[in-house]
Amino acid sequence: MNPVQNNVFYCLRLGNKPSDNKAFLANPTDIMTKYIFVTGGVTSSLGKGIISASLAKLLQSRGYRVTIQKFDPYINIDPGTLNPYEHGECYVTEDGAETDLDLGHYERFLNVPTSKANNITTGRIYQNVINKEREGAYLGKTVQVVPHITDEIKRNMKILGETGDYDIIITELGGTVGDIESLPFIEAVRQLRWELGSGNSLVIHLTLVPYLAAAGELKTKPTQHSVKMLLEYGIQPDILVCRTEHHLPQELRKKIALFCNVNINAVIESIDASTIYDVPLLMLKEQLDKTVLSKLKLPNKNEPDLENWKDFLGRLKNPTAEINIGLVGKYVELPDAYKSITEAFIHAGAKNECKVKVKCIHSENISAENVAEKLKGLDGVLVAPGFGSRGIEGKIEAIKYVREQQMPFFGICLGMQCAVIEFARNVLGLKEAHSIEMNEDTKDPVISMMEEQKKIKNKGGTMRLGSYTCDLKKGSKAAAIYGKSRITERHRHRYEFNNSYLEQFEKAGMIASGINPENNLVEIVELKDHPFFIGGQFHPELKSTVDNPHPLFVNFVAAALSYSKKK
Ligand code: GLN
Repeated sequence: MNPVQNNVFYCLRLGNKPSDNKAFLANPTDIMTKYIFVTGGVTSSLGKGIISASLAKLLQSRGYRVTIQKFDPYINIDPGTLNPYEHGECYVTEDGAETDLDLGHYERFLNVPTSKANNITTGRIYQNVINKEREGAYLGKTVQVVPHITDEIKRNMKILGETGDYDIIITELGGTVGDIESLPFIEAVRQLRWELGSGNSLVIHLTLVPYLAAAGELKTKPTQHSVKMLLEYGIQPDILVCRTEHHLPQELRKKIALFCNVNINAVIESIDASTIYDVPLLMLKEQLDKTVLSKLKLPNKNEPDLENWKDFLGRLKNPTAEINIGLVGKYVELPDAYKSITEAFIHAGAKNECKVKVKCIHSENISAENVAEKLKGLDGVLVAPGFGSRGIEGKIEAIKYVREQQMPFFGICLGMQCAVIEFARNVLGLKEAHSIEMNEDTKDPVISMMEEQKKIKNKGGTMRLGSYTCDLKKGSKAAAIYGKSRITERHRHRYEFNNSYLEQFEKAGMIASGINPENNLVEIVELKDHPFFIGGQFHPELKSTVDNPHPLFVNFVAAALSYSKKK
């Protein structure tokens, strides 16, 4: 879309006639996509992803079309091959990219899907540059970090902006300012800001204002140093978002503003919140959105429409009941490993006005002898996704128990595969049934490798990834829960239900209620005579958002709630 079209569209979208915005139209530089860069200082884990998502939410609530992209300075092409202990959950997009878990926050807050273009790593940048070098595209030049790597970073930073689909692109830079590996990204931001011209981009620096208990004081020095470092790289931040445990007094804001060269209203307090879903409202109170719009020379006349968000928060904070769900997995020491699942429970809990307490249970610690005790007091069990054989028998024991006890069960990906194995062993009597992922020579491979996977050698980016269609069986629980007969869900796996066993399963009461219409892969299994026993080969947690809690999670929570009432 050319700039003029973009402007007309932009005005229409805001409900204005172009003539209402004469001043806006008059300045041609104001009609292009605007860019916001979010950097982090002092320490990692300050929550750049949440701040970016919260700002995006506020801008979206004022009628702007916003997306967020993340640039990660590590050399992996994507986080798909990273161990969850290293990197937390791997988030999968509709188009099948394996990405950073922050993209999950972006989608949960904005309710707009992201894509492969929303997450770029150093590895991807270098791979593109090296491929071009091999093609001879650099015409005999020496290929260098500046300009070739920085040019490739800038090209990637602009891809989403060039689609014409967005008014504002927020770019989150992973890592902390000062890290050696993030330097080319910072330099690319410096250059891009210059190219975009004034008023078309801004830099938000997220920093920490620590409280020293012994001195009884909040300290600004780390922020000053971190801004100084950004200045050394040629970047003057426009806005400082200060993470803090205590409110920032006016005097302290003034001091930060003076020493870091920003307006006082550009010193934004980001106080610790009881839930990440409070952060957009905290940022609204601090007028972060207004400051951003004025610096980007964009009109802010639409008041933010956050009714749905506030309604969600109201229900989240005033539950009328409480349930306990066991999350059985093997990465339970690290809460980020199952981030989307725990967030989906928050959405589903709010929908049911019910507090969902998620108790993580290490599957390696579950055995036939202790399973009753391990699952005591729970109202439902979710068996998590995963890879490899560690902890698999504990998952199977947990499933046997909840199947027999008629306790609500929800299996995701490997969790669904374990439910199939358990049913084969304990109901069909196929004692050695297994997935060939765990035992290649099993006599009864009820979970086998997908045909298309058999030839694959490389591990990275080669699973069955992204969105696939699934048809739901009439009269099944799945069809009732979704309220439709055709759905799409996101996948990330290599193994599948072995259809040669399907008849046996269905005769014994485990039915395939979701089937891929193109290749007949079983996507959902459920038990006929059980209040809630559902396993999905896909990852429903990746599509649960504040605005659209996932129906499988909503109904699982409802089932656990009625189980708890009957108890
Ligand atoms: N390891 C299993 C597979 O590859 C399940 C994957 C998952 O749980 N995401 O099929």
